[in-house]
Amino acid sequence: MSNTMHTYARLPVSFTHGEGAWLWDADGRRYLDALSGIAVCSLGHAHPAVTQAITEQAGKLLHTSNLYGIESQEALAQQLCELSGMSSVFFCNSGAEANEAAIKIARRYGNARGYTVPKVIVMENAFHGRTLATLSATGNPKVHEGFAPLVEGFIRVPFDDADAVASALENNNDIAAILVEPVQGEGGVHIPSKGYLTALRELADKHEVLLMLDEIQTGIGRTGQWFAHQHEGITPDVMSLAKALGNGLPIGACVCNDKTANILQPGSHGTTFGGNPLACRAALAVLTTMQSEQLVPAATQLGAQICAGFSEALKDTAGILNIRHLGLMIGIELDRPCAELVGLALEQKHMLINVTAGNTIRLLPPMIIDTEQVKLIVASLSALIKDFIK
Ligand code: PLP
Repeated sequence: MSNTMHTYARLPVSFTHGEGAWLWDADGRRYLDALSGIAVCSLGHAHPAVTQAITEQAGKLLHTSNLYGIESQEALAQQLCELSGMSSVFFCNSGAEANEAAIKIARRYGNARGYTVPKVIVMENAFHGRTLATLSATGNPKVHEGFAPLVEGFIRVPFDDADAVASALENNNDIAAILVEPVQGEGGVHIPSKGYLTALRELADKHEVLLMLDEIQTGIGRTGQWFAHQHEGITPDVMSLAKALGNGLPIGACVCNDKTANILQPGSHGTTFGGNPLACRAALAVLTTMQSEQLVPAATQLGAQICAGFSEALKDTAGILNIRHLGLMIGIELDRPCAELVGLALEQKHMLINVTAGNTIRLLPPMIIDTEQVKLIVASLSALIKDFIK
């Protein structure tokens, strides 16, 4: 009998250790991780640079609180601003918290403009987290179930439809922000049309609302750019980050540009643990390693290799609706529900994968995978998919 709350439908395996893209269970069985703890362990497991940074820092200082200066927090903020061209960072402990900070910024921005209930435009099928405000922003009725009343102030429009955003902006005069994922991850790996984010940037400027990008899953190199919006050469007003930033050490960040940097002031937001020395040292090691090992461009190449492999292997397989990817964010959409593939991949292929939106196999492999591991992912999974479809 488990004493942990039954909030997860867990698979019947647990791991004792890992190295790179490999994980081992207590019986010594080895598994290939094609999910990275849901886009978290981009450097793989037990990366020596992260281990060293954490170990060193743990022996020095874990926590002093945000009542005092934190050198590694300053250094990390500076690096994130350099990489993004933005100017100020609030650190927290998770993705949902990073989005909470973003939503609070939108509220303050709207309140300062005199809106009684400032609105945030959000997308159908979006996922932004499990706190009350972020689940209200999420566009999935299952996530809302049983949590009424939801937080008010969200207007939902279809994803990848800039005209729908334009008409929402024209029909409401109390909109403070647009919040959107550059690629919808939980929603089924949906990559919007080219020009979508640029159109949203133009609309946000025209109507003087904030463009807020949830880069929690897409950020930190996963799509082949440091941040997915850089594929379009735009900059948001607010960007939320988490997941891969700490390679497993919990850390989130709400990154602002000059326009939004000073909206939150002492007394208006805060957190005990956010940006503590341990998490920041881990994140600094992640960014340095991604740079020195050139993992961001590698994500583009590896993603293309994997998708070319699947396209070839599955070209004559009926039932495959679509194979899509941006860097190492990969979706294989089937014409039928396929959640059971997760258990089958684990049992039969010793491989960690995910199925999202019911019928889309989602792969988020570590950015350090090698060509042999790419081949193994393609060979094992295409065999499994073919079997499943038969
Ligand atoms: N936003 C996006 C796009 C996500 O993918 C997730 C998690 O899957 C979140 C927010 C929530 O992050 P967390 O689980 O760290 O709160």
